Amino acid sequence: MNYVRISVKAPAKINLTLDVLAKRPDGYHEVEMVMTTVDLADRVDMTLREDGEITLDCSASFVPDDIRNHAYKAATLMKEKFQVRQGVHLYIDKQIPVAAGLAGGSSDAAATLRGLNQLWNLGLTKDELAKIGAEIGSDVPFCVYGGTALATGRGEQIAHLGAPAPCWVILAKPPIGVSTPDVYGNLRVAQIDNHPDTKQMLQAIATQDFSLMCQSLGNVLENVTLSLHPQVRQIKDLMIASGADGVLMSGSGPTVFALVQKEAKVHRIYNALRGFVKDVFVVRMLGAQDGEILA
Ligand code: ATP
Repeated sequence: MNYVRISVKAPAKINLTLDVLAKRPDGYHEVEMVMTTVDLADRVDMTLREDGEITLDCSASFVPDDIRNHAYKAATLMKEKFQVRQGVHLYIDKQIPVAAGLAGGSSDAAATLRGLNQLWNLGLTKDELAKIGAEIGSDVPFCVYGGTALATGRGEQIAHLGAPAPCWVILAKPPIGVSTPDVYGNLRVAQIDNHPDTKQMLQAIATQDFSLMCQSLGNVLENVTLSLHPQVRQIKDLMIASGADGVLMSGSGPTVFALVQKEAKVHRIYNALRGFVKDVFVVRMLGAQDGEILA
């Protein structure tokens, strides 16, 4: 099938766990993260350009529209690697808050890789796309597959997992942007005293045990971001006080999410948060990757 225009969804991710095991000689951190995609998504529209140019527009004017944009980087890499004659115009409809710990930029890059694979007829597998994605950022390979996975190495090694127990996810982002390199820069790996129990989280997912999943939530970056931005703790406390079953900061923050099983509680927590912050989203987890469940 030859396409002229294609639209691809780019869902946000949350971290159910985020552990840092060591700082590597190459400057990256050795991590262990359980991640899952949620149904808050950007949309990336790709229109074929016969003149070979790559151009980009984004509905959020403060997002860069040049090579600093991860989606633009993805298109440039694909064009160079496979010596593609054609170009593309990318339009990003931004719904995921920026610099929020939700991997919006990485997901846009991953959606661009998947879309261009079709638009430019490259015939690459998801594994090949994920490998290219790792050159753009550590979270891009996960975003190429989506679903639920354990990510290791610097985050680029992906083991697919089954769908977690179904539940509601309430995301709340205070009006601040957090720089991931800043948070990692303030982390003292030898002094971490709140490592999550990743094995227990894997068991909770494999058995779809909702309360064990809530007990196993953990993120070693949380204390760093909490010390820099006290609003994050206020949101966590508010979620807990309003009856959330589990609460955690995602990635390097500042977005905090609540896991909730009973729908009646969702409204209470949503209303409590809306009095406090503007960016509140009620979403569902997207579950496992289509047709490929390894756990
Ligand atoms: P992660 O969880 O992977 O650390 P994040 O959700 O914290 O990501 P992003 O929303 O990806 O952060 O944005 C981080 C920075 O990347 C922003 O400062 C922004 O300028 C830049 N950026 C580049 N491309 C994009 C994009 N397509 N969408 C959003 N931000 C982008």
